[in-house]
Amino acid sequence: MEIAEIGDEPSPAFSSSDVLTDKKIRYRCYILFGGELKTTNFKTSNGSDWRAGFLFLGNHLALDFLNTCPIQDGEPLELIPDFNAVLRWFQAASLLSSGQVDALQKQWDESSRARDFTAAMRELREKLRKEILAWEDTGRLRRGTINELNQIMTEHPMLTRLKREANEAMTELWFEASQPEDLFAPLAHSAAVLFASVDRSRVRKCGHCVLHFYDTSKKGTRRWCSMELCGNRLKVAAYAARQRARHK
Ligand SMILES: [Zn+2]
Repeated sequence: MEIAEIGDEPSPAFSSSDVLTDKKIRYRCYILFGGELKTTNFKTSNGSDWRAGFLFLGNHLALDFLNTCPIQDGEPLELIPDFNAVLRWFQAASLLSSGQVDALQKQWDESSRARDFTAAMRELREKLRKEILAWEDTGRLRRGTINELNQIMTEHPMLTRLKREANEAMTELWFEASQPEDLFAPLAHSAAVLFASVDRSRVRKCGHCVLHFYDTSKKGTRRWCSMELCGNRLKVAAYAARQRARHK
């Protein structure tokens, strides 16, 4: 893995490349098609890990964001190829209501602002992927990454409001959602929270694919993204290996 760049050097936040160099694979997420995605059901209804065409198995928003480019049948699959898909992901992640999605779509769909934002969001995702992989390994964060996240959070902050529920006062985080760039707010905030507040030893990449997750299991021994996507494949491979060994 290339982690030579890790350190507190005052260089620009991230390289311009969206190429991820991993231990096993050199990975670039391509846009394969123009927004037509199969929509599958919630896990509760059919056991699928797909929710409205997206994966939410990371147990953390920042990791679910990384996981919007899984590998399917050996090919990277871009799940947010356009602004419409971005809005559907935000809604599936419970970050936007359907009313907010409709309003944003009506005002911005097909605009160059929306296109630019979508490209910038994917670029941020690949920068974070690189950073998170290095952080998982070493626990270190580049100064440039910290600066860039702080810059985004200054320009697109998460806000706090007071509300009352069942006679209990409580605060909740929210963000303005009137223009495409506003959608950076929860992405940068969740990345900052991941780096600052999550047990790093429980954040890892699937042993078999590019998906990341925060292991919230009791034993902390989760090794793959999901039974559906990689678990079964590994079990089948292990079974086949045992059979081969038996018949030697
Ligand atoms: Zn996997």
